[in-house]
Amino acid sequence: MIQIENLKKVYNNGYEALKSINLEINDGELICLLGPSGCGKTTILNLLAGLLDPTDGDIKFDKESVIDKHPKDRNIGLVFQNYALYPHMTVFENMAFGLKLRKVNKKEIEQKVNEAAEILGLTEYLGIEELANKKPGEMSGGQQQRVAITRALVQNPKILLLDEPLSNLDARLRLKIREEIRRLVKEIGITTVFVTHDQEEALSISDRIVLMNEGIVQQFDVPQNLYLEPSNLFVAKFMGNPIINIFEMEKEGNALKSKDFTIDLSLLKKDRFKGELNETKYFVGIRPEYFELSENPLFKAKVESVELIGKDCIVNFNANDIHAKSITDITRNVSEGDELEFEIDYNSIYIFQENGVRVY
Ligand code: ATP
Repeated sequence: MIQIENLKKVYNNGYEALKSINLEINDGELICLLGPSGCGKTTILNLLAGLLDPTDGDIKFDKESVIDKHPKDRNIGLVFQNYALYPHMTVFENMAFGLKLRKVNKKEIEQKVNEAAEILGLTEYLGIEELANKKPGEMSGGQQQRVAITRALVQNPKILLLDEPLSNLDARLRLKIREEIRRLVKEIGITTVFVTHDQEEALSISDRIVLMNEGIVQQFDVPQNLYLEPSNLFVAKFMGNPIINIFEMEKEGNALKSKDFTIDLSLLKKDRFKGELNETKYFVGIRPEYFELSENPLFKAKVESVELIGKDCIVNFNANDIHAKSITDITRNVSEGDELEFEIDYNSIYIFQENGVRVY
């Protein structure tokens, strides 16, 4: 188990990159650190690896603090975005390097490297001979990253840390290798922390996701909850493509009103309220798939443009200057300039206070 307790990092220039991080990661879990550029993902990873010292707080592996432990004594495997292979060594030597340093005997090294290379599918591309002769520069990005992952795993670490390992690869290879990584780490049962800024990547491989912003954990949850049960406005806006529609509304009596539509609060599900609505201004979030074309419309809107995405299309519409998006089945034949009539699925809306806290 990894425990991160009140972890804080202020860099030498005074920048507070992590405010107070608390996380508990179970053995064998695959966790993604997700968030926009600069939110502190790599900082957490480097603190776990021991490449950085925290300003405050603690990190425990199996209930034991590792803060004072040197990176090489933490029993971790590290994989970076840029592969970080040694260019002058052969593929085999790269993978064997850590074991050699630990004075593992030659035969055992050979066995471990070949085993790991096989599990990772490297031997599908390279014969044992080639492993022994090829240099990293003679291989594709995907192969190099497989070598880097194999190099990390042959040392039999307790924890695998991957920092954007797929960002230098093309889209199809990313899909393939991310599936391989998930299969592999689950097969070995190794606890894995994976940094990415790509929500689709995180949703597809994680057991749980840590969504961060500005050095603060916004939500630590299973993938579907980040989408369906966002804890605040940031999470709702970060997850989902196209992005959720946000409407500024005012509370009047027992209703929220905007220029276009009114939401009668008494029609909402009582058990979804998380608190009282005592303020005047709220943000209402409606995902594009929850606008429904309807015979009993709540409001009318004019179609500005239509984008095709497979069997669905994204309809960009305008209602009294509010620009919003809905997703509609392609067979509806919606086109630019059409007047549409929408209804909203009330069970699927979110209401946030001005400070972003979710209240429904
Ligand atoms: P990215 O996805 O762009 O890699 P990230 O979420 O991994 O971003 P970090 O690399 O952890 O972000 O950086 C967090 C913040 O700390 C950023 O604002 C960054 O500019 C700042 N930062 C990182 N390293 C240093 C440093 N050595 N000195 C000062 N500030 C730093």
